[in-house]
Order: sequence, then structure tokens, then C-alpha cells
Amino acid sequence: MSETIDPGLRNNVLFTTMDKLFSWARQGSPWPITFGLACCAIEMMATGASRFDLDRLGMFFRPSPRQSDIMIVSGTVTIKMAPLLRRLYNQMPEPKYVISMGSCSNSGGPYWQYGYHVLKGVDQIVPVDVYVPGCPPRPEALIDGILQLKEKIKNERIFSKKG
Ligand code: SF4
Repeated sequence: MSETIDPGLRNNVLFTTMDKLFSWARQGSPWPITFGLACCAIEMMATGASRFDLDRLGMFFRPSPRQSDIMIVSGTVTIKMAPLLRRLYNQMPEPKYVISMGSCSNSGGPYWQYGYHVLKGVDQIVPVDVYVPGCPPRPEALIDGILQLKEKIKNERIFSKKG
């Protein structure tokens, strides 16, 4: 096994804590639930496809909330859909995160004033970690939001958290 280690690194020792190690590992492969609501979801799908390639960030869309760490709310959250979105969020294991993608999810978007059927911000029903602006946001914007979330996860200390 030691033959595979770079000779320049063999005598180095790294010290860290379990907290930091776990946070580093968790930020390396956050899995989003496969879940889209409207036009923003098309950009989310494009972000996952070969040109932008979310796999290189360790991200694979999962078909079940039980296997997911992140919910990317991509699209218009209607009043009818809101309880189902909350149910999916409840089914995700802790620790879990939410990215609000696009104006609709952030604040109601074009439906902000007259959209009687649209929730004026998904943060009314789930806690949002990162807001990505745009209508729709381009894949680069979503990737920027994902990188911000990864940074947040990396700096979390699950074991030493008080309370
Ligand atoms: S923010 Fe714009 S692109 Fe995204 S779901 Fe709403 S209307 Fe569609």
C-alpha cells in the first residue's frame, strides 16, 4: 500500500478532528433529490447534463428523498404543491439542505403580485440555505449556489454543535 503514496508525502502527518473530516467528506458528495417544478427545472437538468456536469462536484440526483441531502427547489411553488414539497423535505434525513433556485421559488417571481395560486417564497414552508436569483438562473448561477452550499457544509461542526 505504501508504494502507492507519493514519496514526498510519506513522512507527513496530518492532524484534524472528526468534525472537520466529516464535514469535508459531506461537502464532497451532496446528493440532490430529483425534483423539478417548472421552467427553472429545465436549467437544473441542463446543469446535471454533460456540458456542465454536476458529477464532477460529486453530485448525483437521487430518485428518493431518503437518499438525498439537498432539495433544489427549481420552479414555481403552487399552493397545491406546497404540502407535497414539505412532505418530501420531511422524508429527507438530517442533515439536509435547501437551495431555492429562481425568482418563483425565492419570492413568487412573475406571480408575486397577482398569482393567487403561488406561494410567495418557498422559505415560508422549508428553511432555505442558499438563494439563487434569476428567471431562470443559468447553470453557472446554480453551480455558484451549489459551491456556496458546499462551503457552508464544509464549515459546519456537527459533533461539537451545542444544543
Ligand atoms: S423563475 Fe422564471 S424560469 Fe423559473 S420557474 Fe419561475 S417563471 Fe419559470
